[in-house]
Amino acid sequence: MNSLLDVIIIGSGPAGLTAAIYTTRAALKTLVIAGEKWGGQLQLTSLVENFPGFPEGIEGPELMVNMRKQAEHHGAEIKEVNFTSGDFTKRPFVINAGETTYQAQAVILASGADARWLGVKGEAEKIGKGVSSCATCDSMFFRNKNVFVVGGGDSAMEEALVLAKVANSVTVIHRRDAFRASEIMQSRAKEEPKITFLFNSEIVEVKGEMRVESALVKNSQTGEVKDMPMDGIFVAIGHIPNTKNYQGIELDPEGYIKVQDHYKTNIEGVFTAGDVHDRSYRQAITAAGFGAAAALEAQRWLSTEGKVTEFKAN
Ligand code: NAP
Repeated sequence: MNSLLDVIIIGSGPAGLTAAIYTTRAALKTLVIAGEKWGGQLQLTSLVENFPGFPEGIEGPELMVNMRKQAEHHGAEIKEVNFTSGDFTKRPFVINAGETTYQAQAVILASGADARWLGVKGEAEKIGKGVSSCATCDSMFFRNKNVFVVGGGDSAMEEALVLAKVANSVTVIHRRDAFRASEIMQSRAKEEPKITFLFNSEIVEVKGEMRVESALVKNSQTGEVKDMPMDGIFVAIGHIPNTKNYQGIELDPEGYIKVQDHYKTNIEGVFTAGDVHDRSYRQAITAAGFGAAAALEAQRWLSTEGKVTEFKAN
């Protein structure tokens, strides 16, 4: 068992790293359980145009490297290991990650969310073989190829735009007859000549020997099923919160952490920040804001509990 920490932060996206910047600046001994793939969803993003302070935008991975450096500069210890389990029933809290057990007075759960998959026949075995959830990561494999993007939100539009730069054609396939994506993202996609749209349609099976070769697409209005040749399928249908093994932490029916007031969970001393609880905004900037707020709440709580001798406001 390692020595007692003031705060353990689980997750290293904008929420977790911002929380770490705040807790370390408040002189709290802070460990970030970053995950083997640290940095969260922004590591899989291209240009981020809506994070204030970067008039020309900034690449997602670069933004995360900067946030990490800032947290480390202030003294955060960052371990690229996966969280495995936690005992939140007694204090100090016990957190198992990698091969090690840690103890902390307060915990901030900022473990984000992962891509949601369609769950149709043939999909799982073709992930990495034509099925992807990240155009920024994989678009180069689809140069001059024909691809589907599934979904009707901003992510689907963004994926389609990234793919249109290299692919021969991009078909956005959506289960309804209207997108939920923002106007600006929809119009960008509609202005791109390589992108076409297929409404009221769902992929019911992914087909192919070694790689994706086609998809069975069902028209939800007529019931007709067509086998459509396709080289790649990019699934952009939302996310699933990373709340596995958070025993004792109250979740909503979809697995998001239930937030009490002031970023508290149902367990006193355990706070939460970012996409792991936020189903509404899911932006880097809001996640960072939640991270700051959760860190300030953790500081206040530690101070009230007398767990730290000095509370230094940022
Ligand atoms: P989202 O807004 O929840 O959209 C998910 C889309 O997938 C919806 O159109 C939904 O259809 C569809 N869908 C869900 N389950 C499906 C299934 N099983 N089969 C087929 N389709 C399914 O998720 P998102 O696009 O990832 O965006 C999440 C948040 O991030 C949003 O707030 C968004 O604004 C933000 N975001 C912003 C940007 C940007 O501004 N550049 C980029 C990416 C994301 P229905 O519409 O029928 O429900």
